[in-house]
Amino acid sequence: MIPGVRLVILGRQGAGKGTQCVRLARHYVVPHISTGDMLRAAVKEGTDFGRKAQEYMSRGDLLPDDIIIGVVGERLAKDDTRTRGYILDGFPRTVGQAEALAELTVDEPLDLAIDLEVPEEVVLERISNRRVCVDCGTNYSVQTPPRYNWTCDVCGGEVVQREDDTPDAVRKRLNLYSQETEPLIAWYLAKDLLVTVDGLGSADEVTRRLIRAIDRRTHGGGGVPFSGA
Ligand code: ADP
Repeated sequence: MIPGVRLVILGRQGAGKGTQCVRLARHYVVPHISTGDMLRAAVKEGTDFGRKAQEYMSRGDLLPDDIIIGVVGERLAKDDTRTRGYILDGFPRTVGQAEALAELTVDEPLDLAIDLEVPEEVVLERISNRRVCVDCGTNYSVQTPPRYNWTCDVCGGEVVQREDDTPDAVRKRLNLYSQETEPLIAWYLAKDLLVTVDGLGSADEVTRRLIRAIDRRTHGGGGVPFSGA
């Protein structure tokens, strides 16, 4: 049987959300919905929407709530998320977005919101070392590059530094995170939906911690253990 789960992952830029969400999506066999990846795909396609999104993204600003809520609403209306669930990465980022998500999911509410916690000094270093595949979004770092000459191991795409990973844009995004997104931790805590997970350590260690925390709350503690990525 497909385990399924409906999750939101919160955490600072560079906390490891992208990497961990890919692993969790595989483990629970649910779609990984990353608003950042969806927006980067639109930018790459060069649609009108993509051009508009790029203006906000390259400055390190958030897109207006109504626009991003529309994008996520359409995605959540598809069959795969309705039947199996989802892992939301990068949404919600404001209380307005969290309220909209609660409305969108009234019939099938969230199981859990996870705060993947990593201190600011650590994420700053991680972001300056991070590299990403332009085609599939797989994350690498200067310390753990792809096997061949900055060519993605997963899809063969080019692996580069993100355009919005400049020191100025990163500082702005981290400030926005503390102003706009951190309040969601208290918001979900008040709804008894929040679990905090330590994001320091190896990627496998963090995945194990996440799965343990999720299963404790959603599968009666008896889910399938993680056996490595
Ligand atoms: P990061 O977490 O490093 O900012 P993401 O890949 O999650 O990176 O997002 C990249 C950019 O996409 C954000 O800086 C913002 O401009 C835009 N974006 C993504 N998700 C949202 C959202 N939920 N609300 C508004 N803007 C968003």
